[in-house]
Amino acid sequence: MIIAKTREEIELMREAALVVSKTLGEVAKAVTPGITTLELDKIAEECIRDQGAIPGFLGLYDFPNTLCMSPNSQVVHGIPNNTPLVEGDIISIDCGAIKHGFYGDHAYTFPVGEIDADTEKLLQVTKESLYVGIRELKVGKRVGDVGYAIQKYCEDHGYGVVRELVGHGLGRVMHEDPEMPNYGKRGRGKKFIEGMVVAIEPMINMGTQRIKQHKDGWTITTLDGKPSAHFEHDVAVLDGKPELLSTFAYIYEALGIVSNEENEFRQKALVL
Ligand code: MG
Ligand code: MG
Repeated sequence: MIIAKTREEIELMREAALVVSKTLGEVAKAVTPGITTLELDKIAEECIRDQGAIPGFLGLYDFPNTLCMSPNSQVVHGIPNNTPLVEGDIISIDCGAIKHGFYGDHAYTFPVGEIDADTEKLLQVTKESLYVGIRELKVGKRVGDVGYAIQKYCEDHGYGVVRELVGHGLGRVMHEDPEMPNYGKRGRGKKFIEGMVVAIEPMINMGTQRIKQHKDGWTITTLDGKPSAHFEHDVAVLDGKPELLSTFAYIYEALGIVSNEENEFRQKALVL
């Protein structure tokens, strides 16, 4: 059952999402060749606790750390370790936090130094597909409309859309109804309702959509070893339309990137 939130609850969830957004901004400053994912994990845990929040992934389903750290061909759920990042890597960083009893859950794939043009394109298209999907999140539309939009956008670029892992409703628990696949058919699935909050999170592979799970029980990689990207926003349905609760603004500020994508998205969402 989809749990609708009140306007007040959505404002509390925005605070939880912003804890994660700010944390990813702090982590972004440190993503450089030579740093280990465990060091980044420590930065994130401290940053979350400094904001009066609790790491949302630590201990959840027995996950051992604050961040899911998935470099290169890892799709999601990678465990931080002592291997330093290398120039040319990409690193997908997924972060969760609990504030006011609500979860924030938000992810970004970072380039480490200079990366090759094909991988750059994968990151760009995956991020664009996130907004393409979120635009469909309106009262009266359905889960399949978001999935279809993301799938079409990414497959038109020749990429593989992971099937086994999906976005989800978000609230006082990390994974609420509905499941939000990044593939689907228009007009199918559960109907969106006012006050719902979801995490939309395309996981897109440069090559095959197929994946494999590692023996650690967590790490998931592409079957062909090609890179995979992951971007995630927390979004509420407010006044019938999608409202971003998380923001990449802190990441862009840290990286010196000028981007108007979220404002552009808001303007488009208003006229749809
Ligand atoms: Mg996440
Ligand atoms: Mg999620």
